Amino acid sequence: MKKCLAVLFACSAAAAFAEPNAVPAYGEVKLKGPMGERLETMIKNHVIATDTEYITAPFLEKTERHGWWQTEFWGKYMHAAVPFWTYTGDDGLKRKIDAGLANILASQEPSGYIGNYPDELRCGEGWDVWGMKYTMMGLMHYYDGTGDKKALEACGRVCDYLIGQLGPEGIRGYHLYKSGNWAGYASSSVLEPVVWLYKRTKEQKWLDFATYLVKDMTEAEDGPRLLDLALKGVSVADRNNPEYGLKPDEKRGYVMKRNRSKAYEMMSCYQGLIEYYEVTGREELLKAAVASVDQIIRDEINLAGGSACSESWFHGATKQQFPYVRLQETCVVTTWMRLVEKLLTVTGDPKYADELERAFYNIYLASMNRDATEFAAYTPLNGYRYRGHHHCYMHTNCCNANGPRGFLAFLRAFLQANGDRAIMNFYASGKQKITLPKTGEPVIFETYTEYPKKGYVRIVNHTAKSSPFTLSLRVPAWCARATVKVNGQQVDAQSVKAGSYCNISRDWKIGDVVEADFELTLRVHELDHYVAFTRGPVLLARDSRFNDGPLDEVIRRGMVTKDRPPQYFQQVRSPSDDIWMTFSATIPLGSHHENPEGFNWPEIRFCDYASAGNLWQPSNSYRVWFPVEYNLGE
Ligand SMILES: [Zn+2]
Repeated sequence: MKKCLAVLFACSAAAAFAEPNAVPAYGEVKLKGPMGERLETMIKNHVIATDTEYITAPFLEKTERHGWWQTEFWGKYMHAAVPFWTYTGDDGLKRKIDAGLANILASQEPSGYIGNYPDELRCGEGWDVWGMKYTMMGLMHYYDGTGDKKALEACGRVCDYLIGQLGPEGIRGYHLYKSGNWAGYASSSVLEPVVWLYKRTKEQKWLDFATYLVKDMTEAEDGPRLLDLALKGVSVADRNNPEYGLKPDEKRGYVMKRNRSKAYEMMSCYQGLIEYYEVTGREELLKAAVASVDQIIRDEINLAGGSACSESWFHGATKQQFPYVRLQETCVVTTWMRLVEKLLTVTGDPKYADELERAFYNIYLASMNRDATEFAAYTPLNGYRYRGHHHCYMHTNCCNANGPRGFLAFLRAFLQANGDRAIMNFYASGKQKITLPKTGEPVIFETYTEYPKKGYVRIVNHTAKSSPFTLSLRVPAWCARATVKVNGQQVDAQSVKAGSYCNISRDWKIGDVVEADFELTLRVHELDHYVAFTRGPVLLARDSRFNDGPLDEVIRRGMVTKDRPPQYFQQVRSPSDDIWMTFSATIPLGSHHENPEGFNWPEIRFCDYASAGNLWQPSNSYRVWFPVEYNLGE
């Protein structure tokens, strides 16, 4: 009886909400141009180059004693490797994926456990449950890519083991959220693959386990508290408080075990809660995720689309001009990209595409080195770039393992569909295909553009047979002026509004051409005696390679403001292939304007933030926030 009720609830409740967007299958969105080259390089030098024997060896050796996270690397790798195998069809990559899987399956114990902790340390402090989460995801990615049920079955056995240890009747004698770190966030984020398992098998026991996890994630007084604190409007940075069930230690700090400010783990939990909402229709969970994400957009996300200092929320958007320890961890970046991609898909709201785009063109591309062999662990807004540390005695780290997942979020959001609408969220040269849910028919486009270097986008309809449908073009929120033409005829300006979709409904014929032109306005951002510049979605930086004076030179007060952008600013040829975009500007710099030679404004160069500092050397420094002169009385 219980089973019937639960299933009925799931179906009837879910049906009451708007349909989520359909996402393209892996390989249906193919990129060319600079982004296509970046992607191909990353797949070749990072994903295909990963040694799967090496990252799966810990599962066979089982020597963990420190409570570390060697077992997260394989699952994260599979999250990118399987989709990119589908994207490329590369046989060598498939062999590597298979070799890794064989080790994982060989390491599974009769109890179902896959991991590297000794029994006495399992499911306790440390990162064991977190590792099982990624292993479950890795196994399901293999199943999704190949249809091989043995991976799905192995995943189910891991989940059975978890239920037996930390479920409601678990032999460890405490709830799952009491294991691991960060007030239960790290372990509770296993919710995401538990719901995936239910979605793939429809077995009630997985949904029941998910319901148990959600109860603790939302109701336990000292647990993650992801529902009530969000709906009360408590900022993600301010959720540590004795009032909210967590007491500080004697130094008034919050230790790793009891601390709700960790960005990556918190967002991973919201990702799982949205998955759970999708199968149960519990709308308050979606509302809590939306409230938290919208607050992160307002208070935490900086101009590069990144966030978090020392991996934690800190109201960072409001004081981003300062130097920070461990800014913009790549794990935080890719988890953020996945989360806003999910909300875009579920809600259809283009503001999440704006955020994914901002993160992609700035902090995400910045975190990858030039040959894409590595992702940085941290990427500052001002300073220089460098490789991350090694984790857990291994020649990799969490960020290198997470990096390729960010590109996938971009590809999955690029072209989506809903009803009879094909929804184009991003613009890059390439070919895109998606099946319209209403008709079951695919639509195909070929795009040419240098966006966001230039604002012009040309889209040619390649759909084989004539058919009526709507093409929805995202008009970015930052875009003050845009025009759209269909076969040379301008679309009514009223329907081209920043921050919304321009819907073009017609009977499309093969060869129909859509041209969009997005004005890439230079914007000045002011923050407490500092200024920064963006052009379209791209954050601009000064880079020491331009050799045009000290990067921290002050800007004269009152001369460059939000309402008074530099008068001379234009795109120029880049001096090196390493730099994607270069701009020349005349800016009133320097304090010594009492001298005649200081009176003339110098011409300086900017580049896109993603290219800034990409030599990964201390001698290649860059800066995005520039100090403005301070005068007495201000
Ligand atoms: Zn990391």
